Amino acid sequence: MRYINRLPKPQILVEKEQHWTSQFLSSTNKRPDSSKYRHPDILATLNSMSFHKCFYCEQKLKGVPSEIDHFIEVDERRELAYNWDNLYLSCTNCNNKLPNKSISVKDALDACFDADEVIEKHLYFEKECIKARGNSNIGAKTIQKYKLDTIQLDLLRSRKLTDFYNVLLKIKDLQIKQKRSSLTIDEKEKLLQFANNDSSFSLMFKLLLRKIGI
Ligand SMILES: [Zn+2]
Repeated sequence: MRYINRLPKPQILVEKEQHWTSQFLSSTNKRPDSSKYRHPDILATLNSMSFHKCFYCEQKLKGVPSEIDHFIEVDERRELAYNWDNLYLSCTNCNNKLPNKSISVKDALDACFDADEVIEKHLYFEKECIKARGNSNIGAKTIQKYKLDTIQLDLLRSRKLTDFYNVLLKIKDLQIKQKRSSLTIDEKEKLLQFANNDSSFSLMFKLLLRKIGI
């Protein structure tokens, strides 16, 4: 999870949010109309905010089914069904989060509210496995609520780590051949790219790069 800077409300919501909300509130429908909140402009804005990644696990969503998640469940707050601040982009795993009754969103980290420094205080990685830092209850609840420790996610993170170490090994080989210990600007850039906001699982790489002093 990384902090996500929410972009301004898409025009379609500026125009329709109130109307759609009152329609839904006066209906007996259990769920809001997904064809409305999945409007292409809404989806496109959420995708640009997160660089096409799930807000919770940072999995890239290109070629992977993505969902628009109601951060606060519609069951809890029907009036937030089409509220821009309540719409998050999610992979199917994270959208299958534990309901507020089990773990409230208030007890977990929020990518659209918590700064990177806060997120890093509560979460870290041992290889590809996500952990709560120290005795962080918020970290533990975040992992539990959004199921950030599934085997499937471990596998995806592990594959990405392999990519990273392959790049690092090539650089180390070249350093030995050229009898130098420092990194060239290009080499440093190649490694730092893994921690860029637009890379998958960038928090894991941000912390790893810091740990190995890059
Ligand atoms: Zn996810």
